[in-house]
Formats: sequence, C-alpha cells, structure tokens
Amino acid sequence: MTEYVIIGDGISGSSAAETLREEDPESSITVITDEGEPLYNRILIKEHAKGKLPEAPISIHDEDWYDERDIDLSLNTHVTTIDTDEKVVRTHEKDDIPYDKLLIATGGTPTQLPVENSDAEGVHHFWTFQDARKIRESAEAADDAVIVGAGLLGIDFAAVCGSQGVDGKFLMRGDRWWRYALSADGAEIMHDGMRSVGVEPIFDSGVSEFEVDDDGRVEAAIGGDGNRYPCDFAGVAIGLTFNTEFLHDTDLEQDNGIVVDEYMQTNLEDVYAAGDLTQFYDVLLGEQAQNGSWGSAKEQGRVAGINMAADEEAEPFEWVSSYSITHFDFPFLSFGHPTLGDEHAERRYSDTEWRRIAFKDGKVIGGVLIGDLSAQSKLKQLMRQQRIVADQAEVLLEKQVDLDELAPSQDQ
Ligand SMILES: Cc1cc2nc3c(=O)[nH]c(=O)nc-3n(C[C@H](O)[C@H](O)[C@H](O)COP(=O)(O)OP(=O)(O)OC[C@H]3O[C@@H](n4cnc5c(N)ncnc54)[C@H](O)[C@@H]3O)c2cc1C
Repeated sequence: MTEYVIIGDGISGSSAAETLREEDPESSITVITDEGEPLYNRILIKEHAKGKLPEAPISIHDEDWYDERDIDLSLNTHVTTIDTDEKVVRTHEKDDIPYDKLLIATGGTPTQLPVENSDAEGVHHFWTFQDARKIRESAEAADDAVIVGAGLLGIDFAAVCGSQGVDGKFLMRGDRWWRYALSADGAEIMHDGMRSVGVEPIFDSGVSEFEVDDDGRVEAAIGGDGNRYPCDFAGVAIGLTFNTEFLHDTDLEQDNGIVVDEYMQTNLEDVYAAGDLTQFYDVLLGEQAQNGSWGSAKEQGRVAGINMAADEEAEPFEWVSSYSITHFDFPFLSFGHPTLGDEHAERRYSDTEWRRIAFKDGKVIGGVLIGDLSAQSKLKQLMRQQRIVADQAEVLLEKQVDLDELAPSQDQ
C-alpha cells in the first residue's frame, strides 16, 4: 500500500488528495496543514472582508469530507523539516510521518514591506481566512485606509474600502496599477474604477514608513513622495514569499519557487510540488513559468495526483490560467502570461473597454481584457493551439473576433 503525504491543504493539496483517492483507492493519504480549518475558498475571502458573504459559503470541505474518503487530515500542524533520504516528514510536535511519495503544496505567505513599523497593529496582509476576518473588523471601524502594492491583490483591498465606506489612498510606486501588464490606457480604466468606489490612486509614491500611536497601532503612512497619509488601517499586498523553509536541508532544486517539470516532478525522486509555489515547465510557453491563480493551482494538484498514482509520466500540465476581477461596474480578466512576451498589441474601445494581447514567437501567450470579455474563449483557444498569429493582430483586436478571418498560418 502506497503512503502519500501532502503538505498543504490549499486548493492544490486538496485537489491532489481527492485525485489520489480516486486513482489509488487502497492507498494511505495524509494531508498536513498549519491552518486551523480545512480547505476554504481563498478567492471568496475578499467577499467576507467586504462584508458581503457570511462564513459558511466560503468553506469548501468540512472534516467529514476527509473522513468519508479515508484521508487523514492534520490541522494546526506545521512541517518543520523533511528528510528525503529517509523519506520522512517532521512536524513541529516532533512527529515523524513516513512517506512513499510526497507532494509539497505549501503556497506562499505575503511579503512584509521592508519599512519601519510594517508589522504594527492595523497593518494587514491578505492570505488566510483569519486575515479576512481581521480586515473586515478593521474596515468596519475605519474612516481612512492606505493600500500598498499595485497588483491583483492590492485591488482587493481597494474593493474592501469601497464596500465598507472607507476612504482609501492607493499608494503606487510607479505611474499606474499593474504596470507590467497594462499600458497607461488600460490602467486608466482601472484607476477610474478605483475612484468610483472611493479609492484615490496616488502615483510615484509607495511607502517609506508607517507611523504608530502610543499603543503601537498604525495611524499614518509616510509616502515615498514625502506626504503623510493618515489611516485607521493599511493593506499591504506586495507579493508572496514561498513557504519552503522546511526544505533547507534537502537538495530540492529551487529558483524563486520549486522547480518542477510538466508532470509536477521535482529533481528528487518521489517528491512532487503543485500550486502557487511551483516554477513549472509550461508546455504552451515552452519555458519555465509561474502562476498564482486558483484554477491553475487546482489543475496542478490534480495532475500531480494522477502522476503520483500512475508512478510514471502519465499526464502533463497544460493549462491557460485566468484571473478575473469583478469589483467595479466593468469586468476585468487576465489570462495566460500577460506580463511576458516579445510583442504586444492593444486597443481601447471606449471609456471602460480595452484589450491587450501578449505574443511570444508570434503565438498568443496571454492578455488582459477590460470591459468586454467576449474575446476570451477565442484568444485562449489560439493560445492552446499555439498558432502563429501575431502578424494578424488586427483581426484579434476587432471588437468581435472572428477566427475565420485569420489566414491559415504557415505552421498549420
Ligand atoms: C485575497 C485573495 C484573493 C484572490 N483572488 C483570486 C482570484 O480572484 N482568482 C484567482 O485565480 N486566484 C485568486 N487568488 C489566488 C489563489 O487563491 C491562489 O493562487 C491559490 O489559493 C493557491 O493555492 P495553493 O494550494 O498553491 O496555496 P495556498 O492556498 O496558499 O495553500 C497552501 C497551504 O499550505 C499551508 N502551509 C504552508 N506552509 C506549511 C507548513 N510548513 N506546514 C504545513 N502547512 C503549511 C498554508 O497554511 C496553506 O494552507 C487570491 C488569493 C487571495 C489571498
């Protein structure tokens, strides 16, 4: 009987456990998490912080779900080391858990700003359900807030401010939100969205320090522009630090994440990794890549489970990821790898509609759609097909994309 151990009960770990049980009914499966609750929907915790969703719909599995599948779930258990020669996982309580095959699915922890008082009371990071509960509490009592981190998670803090009636100042280091994927035209639509919910983008700023009151609670942020921004709470979302400390004694290959091939295998025998923390071989991109999104983490967990149970390279991970934002009057969607590529094409259609497509070697590798998402399935289809189409970008920028207008490219 094979003993599988999974570290992490996020969507990637949990999806691997479910797949392993289906693929290998007789096996022993242990899932270890340092959180105090089984899998919940991390995407929806922002709705809780906004005050819109009660707790119940955010939970995905209760403990019975694991019992029913004969999966051994260890809550509140932190893995401190692993020994890949002895094939043992060690926990903070000094329990040794042996494995035949191991999956590392420990995701990341929000990175703290390297400035004074960034750990003060009232400076929030957003990753766990516990974080969301505290953010909700702070936001309900606040008049003013400061947001730092001009990326996909920073905008969730902006939405919390909007829903909770808090005046927000969104301090950005550059001249726009998500400058790696959006031009000034696209970003302007997002800035208008922020303003419409009462959050003011402040450019070329960032934070140089937080000021605290006598009780150590944040009361202001000093911007990189020298201005003082009073706040009752601050939301910081400047990126993730991957949870890999317990791997320090191993020879596991890491390169800003755990390096895996398209089968989710690491360089060490019988050790796999899945989810946000992987630096995986992307078969569509033709190189190692990273992705922090729910759907991608879920699929990586499933593919890892298939390959672990099959004991061979049974199925590669081949996936076009999506990330959507629905906080404003218009929808936003990014797909694939919008920040990469060697060529880009974009068009603005109206005050709330914009599209940008990223190409690599002539092939679609990602994009951003704002306002009108109708082109998404066609663009994703082209990405999956790896068609060379950059020379016909005009067709892909038509408001209604008609793939029949594309001339067959020479690679077909
Ligand atoms: C506020 C918010 C909004 C988001 N919105 C979207 C969205 O709209 N769309 C989208 O696609 N994605 C969104 N995401 C991202 C998405 O949630 C993640 O990409 C996904 O949850 C990653 O799953 P994972 O399994 O890789 O890691 P995680 O969900 O981070 O799970 C890892 C688990 O491992 C545990 N762990 C870590 N170290 C140890 C250890 N040493 N021992 C034991 N356990 C450990 C952690 O506590 C955690 O429970 C959002 C994320 C957040 C925080």
